[in-house]
Amino acid sequence: MFDVFIGLGSNLGDSANTLLSAIDTLNQHQQIRVKRLSQFYQSMAIGPGEQPDYVNAAAHLVTSLPPEDLLDIMQAVENQHQRERGPVRWTARTLDLDLLLYADHEINSSRLKVPHPHINERNFVLLPLHDLQPSLVFPDGVCLIDLVKQTPRTGIAPLMAYPPIDYP
Ligand code: ATP
Ligand code: CA
Ligand code: CA
Repeated sequence: MFDVFIGLGSNLGDSANTLLSAIDTLNQHQQIRVKRLSQFYQSMAIGPGEQPDYVNAAAHLVTSLPPEDLLDIMQAVENQHQRERGPVRWTARTLDLDLLLYADHEINSSRLKVPHPHINERNFVLLPLHDLQPSLVFPDGVCLIDLVKQTPRTGIAPLMAYPPIDYP
């Protein structure tokens, strides 16, 4: 079993419920167990043009699936939520599931880069990860806590109605 951290985001539709539903779907998979879901955060979109705010979170999973198979499942769950994939990056979406960390593996294939390339620079990734496991150390030896101390707190606010959840 491998410890895995994923990022969740949505800025179209009923975003908070979409994230909860996506986590339930992943947890129903025979080879995936959800351990903990972070608090939810409201964050300003980084994409092009005017976009609604995002709801962001992260989750700690354990899985026996290889990384590419897990990505397949995550993309299938995105599709179940009518995720549209156009040519333009970072457009508004109903659901975005990113594979942030897969144990201490480093992967650099055409369709999968792990750790996720922007993990160090996004407060909407770092703060939810810190909710899950403050002691996390990335494969390159960088400590999550050090990144969290430096990351700006602009454009992000915790959603008090959605605190972290531990799964049985
Ligand atoms: P960003 O990756 O900057 O957060 P994004 O989430 O909007 O942008 P997508 O359009 O969702 O990007 O994904 C584009 C492609 O990224 C996917 O088809 C997938 O093959 C690839 N990809 C590479 N590494 C990862 C990863 N760690 N997690 C998810 N997708 C990844
Ligand atoms: Ca993303
Ligand atoms: Ca993505």
